[in-house]
Amino acid sequence: MGNSFSHYFPYIENELHCENVSLKKIAKDIGTPFYVYSKNAILDKINRYKKAFQNYPTLICYAAKANSNLSILEIFRENGLGLDIVSGGELYRGLKAGFDPKKIVYAGVGKTDKELLEAVKAGILSFNVESFMEIEVIDRIAGSLGKKANISIRINPDVNPKTHPYISTGLRESKFGIDMEDALKAYEIALKKKNLNVVGIHCHIGSQIMDVSPYKEAVEKTVELVFKLKKIGIELEHIDIGGGLGIKYRPEDRPPEPEDLARIVIPVVKETGLKLIVEPGRSLIGEAGALVSQVLFLKDKGEKHFIIIDSGMNDLLRPAMYNAYHHILPVTKKKKKVVADIVGPICETGDFFAVDREIDDLQRGDYLAVMSAGAYGFSMSSNYNSRPRAAEVLVDGNEYFVIRERESYSYIIEPEIKALQKTSGEVE
Ligand SMILES: *Cc1c(COP(=O)(O)O)cnc(C)c1O
Repeated sequence: MGNSFSHYFPYIENELHCENVSLKKIAKDIGTPFYVYSKNAILDKINRYKKAFQNYPTLICYAAKANSNLSILEIFRENGLGLDIVSGGELYRGLKAGFDPKKIVYAGVGKTDKELLEAVKAGILSFNVESFMEIEVIDRIAGSLGKKANISIRINPDVNPKTHPYISTGLRESKFGIDMEDALKAYEIALKKKNLNVVGIHCHIGSQIMDVSPYKEAVEKTVELVFKLKKIGIELEHIDIGGGLGIKYRPEDRPPEPEDLARIVIPVVKETGLKLIVEPGRSLIGEAGALVSQVLFLKDKGEKHFIIIDSGMNDLLRPAMYNAYHHILPVTKKKKKVVADIVGPICETGDFFAVDREIDDLQRGDYLAVMSAGAYGFSMSSNYNSRPRAAEVLVDGNEYFVIRERESYSYIIEPEIKALQKTSGEVE
């Protein structure tokens, strides 16, 4: 394993494995493309988070949007984690996976009445409220059900997390949260509502954060506000500092560990005596997953060498959306190297995985693995170009399990079939 990109994806006799299972074997068994996740890599991350926060009362709520496969959610639930959701669909998945609603927190700037109703009914730990209007609506919906809803105010601490602008969420100009100077007013309004319990304060400054210092700034501002609230008699139960810890995408990346986050955050939060919530997504699952695909064609065009593979931006959107770097490994190592653009089959120039990348001299039929694809990989995938979404596989030691079957063509068009029957009166 030694100097490989990932401890959980070792080369054994020149063949890339996930734990002890050959990726070539899985590819031969179920076809490509597929996502593969290492269960022990996930457990390792869970344990690092637990250990980092063990000396302070902390609830770790996994951010479902990073990867919401039911079997993945079950791993987090079995290990005692809570869940951070951003939609009714994620609530549905979370409840299906057996999460205790008392461990579910719900953020998002645009929650629908239907979604709010479902979450109030479930009795979740906290709605992380992002606007004045949302306070009014949750109060009304809770009242209509004869229930009380727990809420926290999501504040926008105006901190720059120094990450990609699309995943910076704690800057003043972003759509997220309520500005610091309006937060007191939000709490005063919420406290007067009959159907709300005001339980906490929330912030989430961004994602893929590679330096923990912005957390210090954000948490200090949050704690300052907690003391202001105390002064006017508003007592909270918890501080939720969101997620955002970065992961290794490039071989040279050295992302902060949960311990680094804990070391910065706990001493500040401790002064308040409030419980802590953290909401990691990417850092719990990202490095544990890879997207495995097969080379379809090679093509030389001018100076460029293209390797065309059977997965596309519909399977992994991050390169197209954020110009993100993903490390790519050959499933079978080769002696010769080439410089190539590794691209998908989709009719978009943005459909690339790597540009001018030095890589093994892959041939038609060879397999490759796009690394660090466990988070915001499958969960952002789509059926664009009417491509069935990839299969998902979980590896545990010597065994592997298909945790989501590859979609079929008929599954993709199913919601349209009825309409066709109505209009033409016939269908195959
Ligand atoms: C996306 C999100 C997270 C998780 O972010 P990561 O960067 O994946 O850790 C946590 N909290 C909220 C509110 C989010 O929107």
